[in-house]
Amino acid sequence: MLTMDETPKKKETPQPIPLAECKERGLYRLNSRNLTLGVFVAREHAFRGIRTKFGSRYIASEYHWDDGPPFGTVNPMELLPDELPAGISLGAEESRTLCSVCKRIVRQGESDTLQAPWQHVDDRTRLCEKGVAELHDPNRDALFAWLRTMEAKYEPGRESERTG
Ligand SMILES: [Zn+2]
Repeated sequence: MLTMDETPKKKETPQPIPLAECKERGLYRLNSRNLTLGVFVAREHAFRGIRTKFGSRYIASEYHWDDGPPFGTVNPMELLPDELPAGISLGAEESRTLCSVCKRIVRQGESDTLQAPWQHVDDRTRLCEKGVAELHDPNRDALFAWLRTMEAKYEPGRESERTG
């Protein structure tokens, strides 16, 4: 009796999925420089995934091979059954800038001078002592958490590689 693993098709060299066939918010197994899993962003021809570099892990984008050099570095090899849930944004539209000390929202004050001071939005005070304006993107956090979940599901070996 033939099982799935013995069908001849599995032994053929897998072909990359062309850009035109990639699905917005679809999760792909990637053959790329830095990413092994990524979610597709159609308007950018990009895949966002978790990159590990010098021990830190963060969301990075790489671009579909069909875009050509020098930026096209990703061959998506397999569409996985998960897709990014509707509540999680792919973009940075909802990013906010926060005071690094008190975590309140800050904006750069109106001024004609080049270096207008940053202020807490709620009470218009200057940043806390030693505070800096930090970009904080709740969607990135949500996207990162989701990508980690997918990594654990589809690439359980990577966790032990990192810690071992
Ligand atoms: Zn503050």
